[in-house]
Amino acid sequence: MEANTLNLPVLALRGLTVFPHTNLTFDVERRISIKALEVAMESGQEIFLVTQRELNTARPGEKDLYTMGTISRVTQILRLGKTSLRVMVEGGRRARLRRLWQTEPYLQGHVEVVEESAAVSHGPKTEALLRQTWGLFQDYAHLAGNVAEEVTAAVLDCQEPGYLADFIAQNTALRYDDKQAILEELSPLVRLRKLNGFLARERDVLGYERQMEGKVRDELAQQQKEQILRTQIRVLQNELGEDEDNEIEEYRQKLAELKLEDETREHLEKEINKLAKQPYVSAEASVIRNYLDVCLDLPWGTYTKERLNVDAARKVLDRDHYGLEKVKERILETIAVRQMNPEGKGQIICLAGPPGVGKTSIALSVAKALNRKLSRISLGGVRDEADIRGHRKTYIGAMPGRIVEAISRSGAMNPLLVLDEIDKLSGDYRGDPASALLEALDSEQNHAFRDHFLEIPLDLSQVMFITTANSLDTIPRPLLDRMEVIQLSSYTDEEKLQIAKNHLLPKQMKEHGLKKGSLRIDEETLRAIIRDYTRESGVRQLERRLAAVCRKTDMQLLSKTVKRVTVTEKDLPKLLDMQPYPPTVHVEQEEIGVVNGLAWTEAGGEILEVEVNVMEGSGKLELTGNLGDVMKESAQAALSCLRSRAEALGIDPDFYKTKDIHVHFPEGAVPKDGPSAGIAMATALLSALTNRKIKAGIAMTGEVTLRGRVLPIGGLKEKTMAAKRYGIHTVLIPKDNARDLEEIDQTVRAALRFIPVETVDQVFAEVFCPSRVETKADAIPAFLPVENSKEAALRQ
Ligand code: ADP
Repeated sequence: MEANTLNLPVLALRGLTVFPHTNLTFDVERRISIKALEVAMESGQEIFLVTQRELNTARPGEKDLYTMGTISRVTQILRLGKTSLRVMVEGGRRARLRRLWQTEPYLQGHVEVVEESAAVSHGPKTEALLRQTWGLFQDYAHLAGNVAEEVTAAVLDCQEPGYLADFIAQNTALRYDDKQAILEELSPLVRLRKLNGFLARERDVLGYERQMEGKVRDELAQQQKEQILRTQIRVLQNELGEDEDNEIEEYRQKLAELKLEDETREHLEKEINKLAKQPYVSAEASVIRNYLDVCLDLPWGTYTKERLNVDAARKVLDRDHYGLEKVKERILETIAVRQMNPEGKGQIICLAGPPGVGKTSIALSVAKALNRKLSRISLGGVRDEADIRGHRKTYIGAMPGRIVEAISRSGAMNPLLVLDEIDKLSGDYRGDPASALLEALDSEQNHAFRDHFLEIPLDLSQVMFITTANSLDTIPRPLLDRMEVIQLSSYTDEEKLQIAKNHLLPKQMKEHGLKKGSLRIDEETLRAIIRDYTRESGVRQLERRLAAVCRKTDMQLLSKTVKRVTVTEKDLPKLLDMQPYPPTVHVEQEEIGVVNGLAWTEAGGEILEVEVNVMEGSGKLELTGNLGDVMKESAQAALSCLRSRAEALGIDPDFYKTKDIHVHFPEGAVPKDGPSAGIAMATALLSALTNRKIKAGIAMTGEVTLRGRVLPIGGLKEKTMAAKRYGIHTVLIPKDNARDLEEIDQTVRAALRFIPVETVDQVFAEVFCPSRVETKADAIPAFLPVENSKEAALRQ
């Protein structure tokens, strides 16, 4: 054996490296290791410590061990138990394992001491390297947090590169193969440089670890915070009685009590389960809660027993409403059909007519007669499909559509739904509410109506629909096709009187707590209210006036000065807080250039005055009063008609060049359109151009053509009612409309004189005053009354 080769017991280290001139304590359990230590203790305490290449090798051979190790001295051995020892060693010199010649009962080999390179001179390069090491070490120590202070002090104190590398490697948590690389490096500077590389890497790794640790810590902290808050909320909710578990239980209970189809039940169960998984205060939870509240509040499976009996229905309708015979008959017919065939698809009734004529209250009576719950949906101004069909429940503030909402309100699945003002429905970019409504009304489709909010199909086949409208013109065609229209027309004063006497007054008196004898209004006073204090087709204003009278009566009775109040016509201004309406139309005066036309509006018939002024000028025609195109054209046509027969009519043939004409319809803010004011305009023009007066109390309606023919018009019934209301006594109507007179109310026919006309000449012949204002006119044949015109006039 050579001089620097020794035969020593070998201890195989797992994951550990021992460097020269450093102390290390470690525990030993393997039998071969304990034996090697024992041998070392017996023979001068030297032992060769070398690291195993693999940690898991239990019985290492020569090839399983690194070559470079340390000849160390065992300074202390502590027995920990029967099978393990704690050893303290002091690293000596670097040595190479030459040959492992024994593996049993302990490892023993020949090791060769390695001479280390000589100490280096201390130049700036070395200094720089040292400083780098110190810096890196300090960073490392700071991040690792477990480096003893004396170690740091010793590092910073050490100037010797080789030893410094060994010392740091020994005292840091480098990987064991890195440490081995340090041990194997014999050049001090290279060794230190290598160490610096490892330190830098270690520092970075520790830095990342720290960062990640920080994140994990933050997340944990946040979770903990939420947990604590949630617990607090729960405690508070318990205090307030808002127990989440109770809530879920209540929903389940409610669901169990409902009569539902399987599909619907499953869907709602799912929602409840979803809610149970949500934190009580989450946004999602409140969406589901809102949804469940709406769904579970629907009257699933609740139906009122329908009473299909025509006689009973007739009694209810007659009791609640005066007149309206045709309307009642049509409704009773519908009920009769249902009585005969309860399973049949019911017709949808559309009650059309001016406001206040009892459309809604008829629907109410129908509900009463049929023993159905009633719910009203006002469609006026509805433009959004979502109004009918609801918003998807995930929208903020989402609600079901009006149909579902109305059913929910009614409390039964077979209510009578009154869809008010179906003619005021309009569509825009947000979808077409009419088509959604179509689906709801269509008996073929409505057994599974889908509301966006509800999601579950709703059976509307048992719902009865009645719609109301003022005008049929604006109802979307497909909707109109689905409905059976029943027209209600304006009331005459006589009808209004009966309604007031028998219905409105008793109703208002009851509502105002008045007993039968405590308020007396005689018929004459009621007539005066109708005539002078209301101006309407229906009876709404009238009802309001009567309510005002009742209110004032209440006050008087409470003041205890009187026991009974009797109202007469002269009390009315004070009681109603208003003066009687002045006659707005000049029905009692003979005038030049002013003619009463008749118009049909959604609110019933109206008198439409035409005013014409003729001034010196250059032939301008001005049309004012918010007129539509049709009406403007009709004015032009009337003017051309006059021009073409100017001579016959006694007008200056150049009038269209030398005069300015202004045609105006008062109440300029109210839009007006239609051709039916044609003859009124022609008459007013002629009157103004010829300066002849028009007879008082005359009104007229009819379209005029260029050739002077008078064409038929619509809405005669309402127009003539308006004429009567305003005190007109003679109405000129197109001859073709004469057959419509049968439709007109008896009282109106009795009060008016109708003159059917075919041409404007006949009109002119009838309406101008015989008084001679202009001499020229007398000679003009067109102004002579038409033959037999007296006979042609229908005096009913
Ligand atoms: P609409 O729906 O046509 O606008 P309403 O049904 O609201 O009119 O009627 C207004 C008021 O007039 C209600 O109080 C109603 O009871 C009453 N009314 C209307 N027509 C009659 C009638 N023929 N008989 C009794 N009351 C009537």
